[in-house]
Amino acid sequence: MQHDIASVLIDRDRIAQRVEAIAEEIRIDHERMAGPGVEPEITLVPILTGSIIFVADLVRMLPLRMQIRLISFSSYPGKSTSAQAGTFQQALSTLPESLEGAHVLLIDDILDSGQTLRVVGDAIRERRPASLKSCVLLRKLRSDAMAAPVDYVCFDIPDEFVVGYGLDYDDHYRNLPDIVTLKPEVVASREAES
Ligand code: 5GP
Ligand code: MG
Repeated sequence: MQHDIASVLIDRDRIAQRVEAIAEEIRIDHERMAGPGVEPEITLVPILTGSIIFVADLVRMLPLRMQIRLISFSSYPGKSTSAQAGTFQQALSTLPESLEGAHVLLIDDILDSGQTLRVVGDAIRERRPASLKSCVLLRKLRSDAMAAPVDYVCFDIPDEFVVGYGLDYDDHYRNLPDIVTLKPEVVASREAES
């Protein structure tokens, strides 16, 4: 696995520092939204599977009363490294039927075309939450990602395919503690197999 890494883009220490800072921003914003003397309560909606490690770290830095509603949604099926139209696998059924009154925080690993946040965000809005904010670990420096509405971004990264810290290639590499790029021959050889 280590041999497949081309370069480390963001190491574990920088990730940890930034996750702590974002958690603090989220706490302050939600305390402000709740108002003085009111205990804020938040409903996290993390998108599986890429956000698992990020969420596991984030929630432990976030001293707020919370519920966690995991949902599954994939726009990059299997070994593909780019979103493919018409191959959406949606499992929004795990979303609670009503989110009325909830302060929802939608969490994803990476903001790329913006499609995932838009589709899942719309499904959440239909369920009438009191508020909806979104948070991503990574945002790619490409025009559609930069134009997508999002409230919290840990890191802006070049428009390259990355894995690690929850992000996969063909469901591998999620357990790498750093965010890395893969050697081109690793991606090419796997794509040739598929
Ligand atoms: P979007 O819907 O914004 O185009 O893409 C977001 C989803 O695509 C993310 O949830 C993530 O699963 C996947 N994705 C986009 N870019 C990358 C990348 O560089 N690496 C990995 N592993 N997944 C990505
Ligand atoms: Mg994803």
